[in-house]
Amino acid sequence: MSIPLPGTGPVFGIWAHPDDEVYLSGGLMAAARAAGRRVVCVTATRGEHGTDDPERWPPERLAAIRDAELTASLAALGVTEHHQLGLPDGNCVRQPFDAVVARLAGIVAEVRPEVVLTFGPDGFTGHPDHRMVSAWAEAARNRAAPNARLLFARVTAEFADTWRHLYDRLGMFASDDLPWRAAPDRVAVRLRLDDAAADRKLVALRAQASQTAQLTALLGEETMRAWACSVETFVDAVPAQALDFADGC
Ligand SMILES: [Zn+2]
Repeated sequence: MSIPLPGTGPVFGIWAHPDDEVYLSGGLMAAARAAGRRVVCVTATRGEHGTDDPERWPPERLAAIRDAELTASLAALGVTEHHQLGLPDGNCVRQPFDAVVARLAGIVAEVRPEVVLTFGPDGFTGHPDHRMVSAWAEAARNRAAPNARLLFARVTAEFADTWRHLYDRLGMFASDDLPWRAAPDRVAVRLRLDDAAADRKLVALRAQASQTAQLTALLGEETMRAWACSVETFVDAVPAQALDFADGC
């Protein structure tokens, strides 16, 4: 069963690297746009270090490629409003907190979102940039749109168990405690993508080929579609100490 995004107003996503937004909320963004909602997406970094082959893809070249890929990817979802903060990839934790939050809050104040989507304090994968962006997003929302519903990306226990073999194979997570799982009664938004929505998300992922082509070749397109384009889950923001870590919660 799907649980739709609340409300009818603007949806605001705050993410760390190009492709985070599509993996975690591509279906929700497309559905919101199809419903006539404003969707604005912020990316903190240009992802200039997102390669195993930095000689072939030096940072400036990769950043430019990823800018173009992200624009095409968002367009495939119907999203045309994007802000790139251009902060250094892999180095978000060293940025001045108040200055970044002030910059983000300025964008939030203009958009007046009803819903803010971002990582939880776990950073979903544990990536330090993701965790930092979560803190920035929460602070910016608290400052500029305190009534906006703040939602954190999460997976259900069922999803984590189904795909554990893939997570282990890819080494996606920064610690054995990840991913954090949403307790069933904590799930605030869940989109089960139908075939058309899954295809659209797959197109958006393909558009970011510098990040997804190798992975798709490795897994096969059907697995990529079943894993990355099947369901998106968010929980309401709560203080980190109160979040569930355990299996079967
Ligand atoms: Zn990322």
